[in-house]
Amino acid sequence: METTHIEHIGIAVRNLEEAIKFYEETFGLKCYAVEEVKDQKVRTAFFKVGQTKIELLESTEPDGPISKFIEKRGEGVHHLAFAVKNIERALSETEAKGIQLIDKRPRKGAEGLDIAFLHPKSTLGVMIELCEKKEQE
Ligand code: ZN
Repeated sequence: METTHIEHIGIAVRNLEEAIKFYEETFGLKCYAVEEVKDQKVRTAFFKVGQTKIELLESTEPDGPISKFIEKRGEGVHHLAFAVKNIERALSETEAKGIQLIDKRPRKGAEGLDIAFLHPKSTLGVMIELCEKKEQE
């Protein structure tokens, strides 16, 4: 797998507006995009910190993955996203190593990235998202 950088860190929050305000007022960051990803039942807010982004995630449904995460563990770091080259190949290599995939094929995430999650049971307790920015077709 060719991993180039940490694309973003995903953080689960209960209230997106309050969390945006907190990150702006505390860390001097500026939220540059709020986007709903229906597929994942979340609303996301993005901040740039150098090359890496912070992605705040608020659930839009009580049965969404972020709701369930917060119920179990409370608010906090939810996943780490690695930017990779050739996400399809990265996934097949990962699967061949016996690592459990949540997404066998890439799907569309926020910001138009192709994304796929690996199961934290297989990755030492950290949910890992692989993502790739494909050129506009
Ligand atoms: Zn993410």
